[in-house]
Parts: sequence; C-alpha cells; structure tokens
Amino acid sequence: MKDSKALRILSFDIEESYMLLEMCDNDEIFDPCSNMEEGMQTLFDLLDKHNIKSTFFVVGKVAKKHPELIRRLADRYEVGSHSMNHKPIYDMTKEEFRKDLLNSVNIIEDITGKKVKHYRAPGLSIHREQSFAFEAMAEAGIEIDSSLTNIKLYSYGHFDAIYQEPFIINSNGTEIKEYPVISKYMIGYSSGGYFRLLPYRLIKHITKKSDYIMSYFHLRDFDTQQQTISSINFIRRFKSYYGERQFLTKLNTWLNDFSFVDIKTADEQIDWANAPRLYL
Ligand SMILES: [Zn+2]
Repeated sequence: MKDSKALRILSFDIEESYMLLEMCDNDEIFDPCSNMEEGMQTLFDLLDKHNIKSTFFVVGKVAKKHPELIRRLADRYEVGSHSMNHKPIYDMTKEEFRKDLLNSVNIIEDITGKKVKHYRAPGLSIHREQSFAFEAMAEAGIEIDSSLTNIKLYSYGHFDAIYQEPFIINSNGTEIKEYPVISKYMIGYSSGGYFRLLPYRLIKHITKKSDYIMSYFHLRDFDTQQQTISSINFIRRFKSYYGERQFLTKLNTWLNDFSFVDIKTADEQIDWANAPRLYL
C-alpha cells in the first residue's frame, strides 16, 4: 500500500549522456546525436503508466537542439533550467553564473512559452563560495532551487549545514525555496548512480524510513547505447555506467511501491510560513 504522508518528489535532469561535468564542452568529440527522443519517450510511457507527474530540469543547449521535444515535455510537465551548458557553478563568477542562467531561462521560455521558475545546478555544484547564485536566481525570476545536497561526493555536498527538508534561503533579503537532495545514513539512495548500484530491498527499506525524498535521475541512467567516457577513473566509470540495464525495472518497482509527485504538487503541501530559513 502506498503511504501518502511522506513527501516524495520525482525529478529528471535532461542533458546529453556525455555531460559529466568536466566533459560538457566535448560535443565535438562525443556523438551529439544522442538517444534523446527514445529516452524521453521511455520516460513519458513510464509516467503515464503510473499516472504521475515529474519535474524536469533541462540544459539550455539541449533545449536549443531539441525544441520540439522540449515543447512536448512542457505541455505536460513542469520544466526548469539545468544551466546553459552543464558547466560546474564552482568555476563561475557571479556575472558568469547570471549570464549562464539567463541564457538557459530565455531559451527554454522562448521554446515553451512558459515562465521558468525552477533551477538545478549541474552536478549540484553550488558550494558555499557560490552563495551569490541565490540572489542571481531571484533576479532571473527563479522561485525554487534544487541544487543543494548533504551527499558528500565529487562536486556534491560542499554547502554545509543545510536542512534535510525543503527550506527557505534568504540571501540579502531575497528568498528562494530550496528542495535539497538528501541522503539518509550517508547513502544517496534516490539519485542515479546510487539507485543503480544499490539492491532494491535496501532502497525500499530506506524509502520507508524517509519523510522527504527528492529523487534525481538522468536519461543516461538507462541509456545502454551511450558512449562510455574512458578518461574518467575506474570508480567514477563504475558509478556512471553500472546497472543501466536494471534501472528501469527498479524505478518501475519503486514507483509501484511508493507514491511520488512533482515539485508543483509538493509545493502546495508545504507549510512555507513555518519552514526553516537559512540566512546567507
Ligand atoms: Zn546534470
């Protein structure tokens, strides 16, 4: 039986499979003609089957390349920005971030005809030093961010002392709602690599114990045709490519066992007046 008390949110980041952070400029080297159409159709069918909504964070460059697909996506689901080129935010100045964000927002809004209100940083790469990002988001009309995490790995988890539930970030008087990606028992069970690698019984067990989940998946989590990037180290390669074949079966079971909503639906359920506030 599905328990509806917990707040479980489904989200996907729509990017090319080769867009692991440091590879983001390599579309000359890697095949730019990905399985985007096929992958998105698989997701549409899965969501239809379970009759659920998801939030999608789309890379601006991908939207530019696949405008029809993104229009179709936005007709049915909420679409946010996942940056312009999938470059890590910790390498950007405030000005560079502002430009990158506005570019992506403008492109997605032009294509979909809808206001972009959500943002997720590539690789959850906003560290404490990039706190300026939240003011820039507010200036660009972003109301909701989902870029912070307590998972400490690679680019992740370098923004200390965050709340483990949705909270409000107050940065010099501007406010952004934050939906963090949270690990439990130090395990990021609700995101791509971990979800593919962990046995389903363990994922199910932790899910039952969690009051709040922001899941975080990619097309490459089940793209068995993708080009493997050999220059990344063995551990990273294992985390990036293992378990693709089982992913959809596992996700399907998860969606059968538990109920999920998109951010829009979750937002209506949260008592924001009493939500925790983080002052920067
Ligand atoms: Zn991404």
